Amino acid sequence: MDFSLSDEQRAIRDTARAFITREVMPLEPEVLRRERAHQPGLTPDELRELQLKAKKFGFWGLATPEEYGGMGLPALTQSLIWTEIGRTFVPFRFGGDADNILFRANDEQKREYLIPTIEGERRSCFAITEPGAGSDAANIKMRARRDGDDWILTGEKTFITGGNEADFAIVVAVTDPDRDVRDGGSTAFLVDRSMGWRSEPIQTMGEGGPASLVFDDVRVPARNVLGEVGQGFKLGMEWIIKGRYIIPSNAIGIAERALGMAIQHANTRVTFGAPIASYQAIQWMIADAETELEAARWLVLRAAWTADQGLDPRHASAMAKLYGANMVNHVVDKVMQIHGGMGYTRELPIERWYRQVRLYRIFEGTDEMQRLIISRDLLRGYTKIGGHLA
Ligand SMILES: Cc1cc2nc3c(=O)[nH]c(=O)nc-3n(C[C@H](O)[C@H](O)[C@H](O)COP(=O)(O)OP(=O)(O)OC[C@H]3O[C@@H](n4cnc5c(N)ncnc54)[C@H](O)[C@@H]3O)c2cc1C
Repeated sequence: MDFSLSDEQRAIRDTARAFITREVMPLEPEVLRRERAHQPGLTPDELRELQLKAKKFGFWGLATPEEYGGMGLPALTQSLIWTEIGRTFVPFRFGGDADNILFRANDEQKREYLIPTIEGERRSCFAITEPGAGSDAANIKMRARRDGDDWILTGEKTFITGGNEADFAIVVAVTDPDRDVRDGGSTAFLVDRSMGWRSEPIQTMGEGGPASLVFDDVRVPARNVLGEVGQGFKLGMEWIIKGRYIIPSNAIGIAERALGMAIQHANTRVTFGAPIASYQAIQWMIADAETELEAARWLVLRAAWTADQGLDPRHASAMAKLYGANMVNHVVDKVMQIHGGMGYTRELPIERWYRQVRLYRIFEGTDEMQRLIISRDLLRGYTKIGGHLA
């Protein structure tokens, strides 16, 4: 068993780190200042400019296949890069990617939706959640009724990331109420904002909130069905599973950076005549944080590795998402504690991380849903204890 990175993985990781450190992190004071003034940390133009700069470093389309101009990286290398992105709180991500399920589009749809999304000319959002269907996504009620060559979509989606900015939505709706949503009853549609849906921003404790999307008899041409009629839920799950190792990969970067700040603070902050690092209470917090961080790292890398082997990554990803999301919450909490009152102020990014990472336990499958998947796999014998090593 070899726990080291290959030369190629290390080189890509280090280049990503250098880019983030040199080009993105210097923007942090300005991002904090803007967010304190309730403005977006980066404007779309600034994000685009950074992404084009990163393209010159070779970073474009981490997950996008080479035939579409991307890097087509293995999941493990993508995970390493998402960890580097997590080291800064600037709302940055590399450009050149598109929702994984847009690659299921037909040639015409690829020209109209996939390619412009990869190029950054169009912005998408993915919408399955509804006011009455979150964890229980198979309970969606948005209806799509056939009308000649069109479908008419009626209903509401909620908590949609990017829904305020997107110019098209990938929407899962019920097309056959007599069938199970999971099995032939739902379909995914590509719906331009210009077709008539509207969005309402939702205020959250994090920065850059999601939106609710309202569909009031929105007419969508049948050629805008993504994949096959009846396949909507399956595509939705394919979209969600992707995030299950990206979120904890990102969490590792946040935890690494925050823990580094705590170590530096512990070594320099003096109380009762000695640095707080000399107190066992502080040492134990640092030790526990590092131990959880390291455990999360290996769960995440194993989940990514599982996907790269062409094995079903669901079980490993559920453990990585559950543990990684909790780990970063624990670590950021300890980092705040070590910083004392300063940790609670908006002078430092710790309170921002504190608000940001709470979401990680909720979206793209709550803690409870991950536990449900993990235990169900074992109870029904889908997975052996110990996974592929068993
Ligand atoms: C900021 C943000 C961004 C999001 N982005 C998107 C997006 O882009 N697209 C999209 O479609 N959705 C998105 N979501 C929706 C998100 O995926 C859901 O909020 C999440 O799946 C939980 O659903 P819910 O909020 O309806 O909670 P509920 O399903 O109502 O759950 C409430 C609580 O009950 C628990 N619970 C529910 N059922 C069970 C059970 N059987 N056993 C034990 N506990 C249970 C849950 O774990 C949770 O703790 C986003 C949400 C947020 C907050």
